[in-house]
Amino acid sequence: MEKLRIAIQKSGRLSEKSLKLLADCGIRVNNGGKLKADAANFPLEVLFLRDDDISQYVEEGVADVGMLGENTVIEKGKNVEVVRQLGFAKCRLSLAVPKEVNYSGTSWFEGKKVATSYPEILGQYFKQKGVNATIEVISGSVEIAPGIGLAEGICDIVSTGSTLLANGLKEVEQVMTSQAVLIANPNLPSEKRVLLESILFRMNAVQKASENKYILLNAPNDKLKEITEVLPGMKSPTILPLAEEGWSSLHSVVKEDEFWEVIDKLKSLGAEGILVCPIEKMIL
Ligand code: ATP
Ligand code: MG
Repeated sequence: MEKLRIAIQKSGRLSEKSLKLLADCGIRVNNGGKLKADAANFPLEVLFLRDDDISQYVEEGVADVGMLGENTVIEKGKNVEVVRQLGFAKCRLSLAVPKEVNYSGTSWFEGKKVATSYPEILGQYFKQKGVNATIEVISGSVEIAPGIGLAEGICDIVSTGSTLLANGLKEVEQVMTSQAVLIANPNLPSEKRVLLESILFRMNAVQKASENKYILLNAPNDKLKEITEVLPGMKSPTILPLAEEGWSSLHSVVKEDEFWEVIDKLKSLGAEGILVCPIEKMIL
């Protein structure tokens, strides 16, 4: 049987979460340190690579799909299809300068030297802003460049900003935001598309579940109609009579980001004993 080949990062910030996402989709991968492993219960072969190489492997069809940061996908500029955003490894690519600099806007970078591992993205950015700066390409530890006289500014990945701070830098421009994405070879044969669709279906269920909560509450019967309007659920809520006369138990699903607003409304409508539970998978 045909297998789908996925490339994920061997070791780094994406590795654990990539494997976790597969595990949440019910796909077990036991690599035991090998660079190529078969999933135990899905026709999937996993290649463990440097993230820099993943989009090239996918473009060339050595791997069918891959998981990596959007930043790296764009920097490498390979012909791959971005199939979906995966919601982890959220970060931004930013320009930073020594904190004592009196920063005046992107024109500050005119004629300056900027160290980065993202020359393509940064080059595009400067071009768009009409700034002429020299890009000094280095592959890591970019933050020390200004301190050692290699460059006057840097362009690097920032999440909390604590690394910048520790190196006496401040963030001055956001060049792009990024998160992990699933990419695919644009010419996947149809039997592999089917396998990809099956993984995407599972990813949807996992993602939907993480965006929703299961909610149970007790309500006086005369308020059930109004409460149902607040909690429409997947189809409509389940309503079960309580042993106590005049009361019911109502079960439904609520979106995580509407959660507190909904809870306030429910309380004002007389709901009691509200329980909220995580949902593991959600199939609509
Ligand atoms: P490799 O050895 O595979 O080349 P790497 O050192 O290039 O690894 P990592 O530091 O593991 O890469 O980062 C991988 C990706 O994770 C980055 O391209 C980016 O998309 C994301 N990332 C990096 N730093 C952060 C951060 N601080 N917070 C969130 N996401 C991040
Ligand atoms: Mg890398």
